[in-house]
Amino acid sequence: MMSDNLRELLELAARLGCETLTDEPLSLHTTFRIGGNCNAMIMPKDADSCLALMQAARSLEVRYTVIGNGSNLLCDDRGYNGAVFLIGKAMGEMSVTDGEFIRVGSGAGLSKLSAFACEHCLSGAEFAYGIPGSVGGAVYMNAGAYGGEIKDIIISCEAVSEAGGKFTVPVEKMELSYRNSVFQSMENIIITSALFRLKKGIKDEISARMKELAAKRKEKQPIEFPSAGSAFKRPTGQFAGKLIQDSGLSGCTVGGAQVSEKHCGFIINKGNATADDVKKLVSHIQKTVMEKTGFKLESEIRFLEY
Ligand SMILES: Cc1cc2nc3c(=O)[nH]c(=O)nc-3n(C[C@H](O)[C@H](O)[C@H](O)COP(=O)(O)OP(=O)(O)OC[C@H]3O[C@@H](n4cnc5c(N)ncnc54)[C@H](O)[C@@H]3O)c2cc1C
Repeated sequence: MMSDNLRELLELAARLGCETLTDEPLSLHTTFRIGGNCNAMIMPKDADSCLALMQAARSLEVRYTVIGNGSNLLCDDRGYNGAVFLIGKAMGEMSVTDGEFIRVGSGAGLSKLSAFACEHCLSGAEFAYGIPGSVGGAVYMNAGAYGGEIKDIIISCEAVSEAGGKFTVPVEKMELSYRNSVFQSMENIIITSALFRLKKGIKDEISARMKELAAKRKEKQPIEFPSAGSAFKRPTGQFAGKLIQDSGLSGCTVGGAQVSEKHCGFIINKGNATADDVKKLVSHIQKTVMEKTGFKLESEIRFLEY
């Protein structure tokens, strides 16, 4: 149901030149392909519009949340009661400065960032090739793979918050650790761009490494099915997928959700999985792995409540 206040927020978004959608299925904006409709979706076009929209949402008492490419999200089957700000292509500009710095809008895809770096003979972002997230989501999650992570290459990011306006966060203040950042403990913040420092490299070598990593992903991960990537964080010294496999859960299914037989660390959507199926499967995995191995598995996927 569209309230007058939500309508007012959408009118503001349109005046700011931002694309808007109403009653939009979140399943179309998440790699899990799960989630009901949100009342409204707004694609901010820059940091100023993010700030204006956040402040307006606050004063209009419209609930809102922010998503990037939806590749680490499980959305409620009922959808989202409020406005979803989707930081996407409209905020995806990239530029090289001073030879080895890349400034990237938070809506840019990580693979695009790697390809852009390669194009400019800059090395260091190869690890990000094939991670299906946006730069904003990657900073928020401190995404990483194959021995590299955002923490290794980021210098600072620009962000906006209702109370703080626009500000810069240097890497020292980001508290980046394994799949974690200070942003996860902050409310109502949007990362709008990031500055990365890379190293001069040889284009063919950078490109070869990217291809090698893409091939590894294809071989090891069930990328042919919708998922949100690794469902669980790695417990210290262990691999979640191995613990799940050793607990006899390969192929374990609840409704349309299944522990991938190709990589037990992934929960895949075999067709019509609901968020409820995934949540039940997650609980079952956590309980079984605890009983069989004594390890506590923590979800890496973030849940967006209705
Ligand atoms: C097949 C597959 C493989 C994957 N492989 C990897 C991997 O190798 N390594 C890895 O680390 N991850 C991996 N992931 C998970 C996922 O791609 C990363 O966590 C990614 O960084 C999430 O980015 P996103 O834009 O999709 O974020 P979303 O899923 O849209 O959001 C994730 C969280 O970030 C917040 N957020 C997003 N954008 C912003 C912003 N601009 N400002 C503030 N908050 C924001 C959201 O509110 C949400 O809480 C994989 C996922 C899939 C589906």
